[in-house]
This record gives sequence, C-alpha cells and structure tokens, in this order.
Amino acid sequence: MRTPVPDYLAHVLDDCDDHHIGQLADYIPELAQANPNQLALAISTVDGEIYSVGDDEVEFTIQSMSKPFTYAYVLQHLGIETVLNKVGVEPSGEAFNQISLDKENRPKNPMINSGAITTHSLIPTDGSQSSAEILRAFMSELAGRELHFDEQVYASEIKTAYRNLSIGYMLRTVGILETDPVHIVNGYIRQCSIRVTVKDLVRMGSVLANGGVDPKTGKRLLNREVVRQVLSVMMSCGMYDAAGDWLTTVGIPAKSGVAGGILGVLPGQVGIAVFSPKLDEHGNSVRGIDIMERLSRDMGLHLMEAAPSAQTIVQSHYLTGVDDSISVYVLRGVLKFTEAEMLLRILQNEPEGHSKIVIDLSKISLIQDVGKRMFLEGIDRLIDDGHTLLLVDPERRLDHSRTYKDRVLHVFENLDELLEQQH
Ligand code: GLN
Repeated sequence: MRTPVPDYLAHVLDDCDDHHIGQLADYIPELAQANPNQLALAISTVDGEIYSVGDDEVEFTIQSMSKPFTYAYVLQHLGIETVLNKVGVEPSGEAFNQISLDKENRPKNPMINSGAITTHSLIPTDGSQSSAEILRAFMSELAGRELHFDEQVYASEIKTAYRNLSIGYMLRTVGILETDPVHIVNGYIRQCSIRVTVKDLVRMGSVLANGGVDPKTGKRLLNREVVRQVLSVMMSCGMYDAAGDWLTTVGIPAKSGVAGGILGVLPGQVGIAVFSPKLDEHGNSVRGIDIMERLSRDMGLHLMEAAPSAQTIVQSHYLTGVDDSISVYVLRGVLKFTEAEMLLRILQNEPEGHSKIVIDLSKISLIQDVGKRMFLEGIDRLIDDGHTLLLVDPERRLDHSRTYKDRVLHVFENLDELLEQQH
C-alpha cells in the first residue's frame, strides 16, 4: 500500500492549475522576472514527515515569511517582555508596508515591515557576524540544511528600497531603532532574500507545529512560550489587511511573502507551504490562498474547528479482589484539562473508606502539565479520604514519585502483576 496523501496533494494542484489572476510583485524588479506558472505544495506532519508536489525543488526568496522566524529568534534570546517594549502584537488592518505606529510609538506588530525591521534590529550580535547571517544560520538549522542568500534579489530590492528606508528613518526618529537605519534596513532586506523551497518551509514549520522541538532531531530549538507567541501573531497579523478574512475562511496561523510563498502552521498538527508567484492586492499569493482554503476545508484544519476531546477518559471501571475491595480504573487517551476534569468527577463518586483504588495509565498517550497537576491533586484527595492508591504507569508519564502532600506514589509496570500481588 502506498499512502494516498501525495496523490491527494497532486490532485489539489491539478484542480487549481489554470487559475491565472494576480500580478507578480514588481516593486522588487527581480521578482517581476519570476515564472508566473510555478506552483508547489508541501505539508509536514508533527512527527516530521514531509510530502511535496509540483515545483517542490524550486527555490524562491522567503521574503516576509522570514518575519515570524526573526521574531522567534529575538523572543528566544531577549524574552517576550523586552521585545514587547519595542513592537506590539495588534493587527494593523493596514498594508504590509504601511508607515504607521501605535499610540505608544511602536510598530503595531512584527509581521508588517516596520515591526520586522525593528525585530531585525534587536538581534543580539557581538559584531563578528551580521544579523542577517545569524538569521540565515538559525533558519538553516530549522530547515535542516544550509540555506543561502539570493544576491540578485537582494541587490534588486536594495536599489528600490525607498519605502522600507522611510520606515527605517521614521523608526529612528521616534527612537525605536537605536542605530543607523540604513544598515538595519539592509539587514532586513538581506533576511528577506534567503532562498527556500516549499519543503524547507514546511520543515521549518514542523518545528513550530511541534511546540519548538525539531521532530527530526528531537532537539528543542525554541521555547514553548515563544512558539505560542509567534503563532498567535501569525494568526492575527500574518496576512496583513486580509487577516480577518483569512481567520474565518482558512483559520490557520500563516505568513505570506511577496515572492509568492505562504507558510501555514497548525499547532500540534501540520505545516503547509504553497508557492505560486502571482499576488492579490494585499501581496498574498492568489493560488496559494486558494490552495490553503481548500486544504483547510478538506482536511478539517480550521483552528476553530477543534476536535472534541475524547468522550471517555475511563475506558473501563470494575471492582475486584476480596469483597470487591479493589476499584480498578483503566484510562485511555490524552489527559488534558477536559479529560482530567472528567476523571476527577468520576473519582468523586468513590465512597470514603479504606478501599484500594487502582488507576491504570498505561494506555494514556499524553499527559499535559495541567492533566498531571489535577491528577496528583486528585490522588491526594483520595488518600485524604482513606484510600490506598496504586498506579500502573510503565512509561512513568506522571514523572513524579510523590504527591503534592509528599506521599509516595506506588507505581507498577503492569496491571495483571499488580492485581496478582493484591490477592
Ligand atoms: N522584502 C519585502 C519588503 O520588505 C517583503 C514584503 C513581503 O513579503 N510582504 O517589501
């Protein structure tokens, strides 16, 4: 059997192939030379599998899709508060190159140019490497291969960078930029000229989808809070003045670039990248948007369409032992807030007394932090009621040897063994 996923992706490309509205970005002369028919699509799963179709080997410049990664880099190195002092997180409802500031004289968010030029200026450097080089190395690590600058696109944009330069001077005037604005704008434009394929983009996206850990190497590249901040800002500001439309129709945190790429990241699920150079009036790829809408619909990826939690966290419950004095709960699924609440509500029905309660966690696939805390709290309360608690947790998912009230947890490898010992 061959998985049908690549066939499905190829089918999506075929379906949208003859759609030819939109314009190439021509304010960067080199981008106006792009082949308008190019079309590529890739997705990455949260465990790092990558599927791609179409012109998936074609490199194009990352442009504004670099902005979330620059933002991630400075958040990771300076902390959220420091960065917030310089750049806000409010959707601007304006074009990406709008010359504007919020009431506190900060750029409104890091996804528009003023915010991105500012985050670029915040990259800590000891002078041995340029900020753009630091970012190139960082993005290469996320992509799992060495990425390169496109010198031609860079040179071409520098020649006509009047608007970005005026943004730079404005930011310098109000003190948001603290050094030479020309130098910073150059660095920002260089960052935008990094070449990627859709496969690189989804590989980078898989790190964000996976909460900051590279699923291929297992290495943590970004903190969880940083990833949450970046994806939130992508959701509210990533598609510029089309953000509301995007949120309702596609519902996937995303960032577009004027070379025609769009990168979408659905936390815990997938990274998606599309590439097609013709743009709409907001500077977003026309066919890219079509494809993202289609995938969101077909694959049920809209963020607001969250799958319901498992209806039953308790797979089975029975009484056993002498006089049915052992109450056994076998759990299954994921233990998040919703399931932990359900479990505690069920355990609430255990009559006070001296019975033994066995809870088998071996079929639990994931325990979130909140699930763990609620579970341990529940155990303390059951012990307060006079119960003896015995747990089956072969993979030590609870990751605690004692409860909050410092009671030792009795943990067994296997339910049958545990029950045999009780007879
Ligand atoms: N380098 C481009 C610019 O600053 C990036 C814009 C974009 O991709 N939306 O104008």
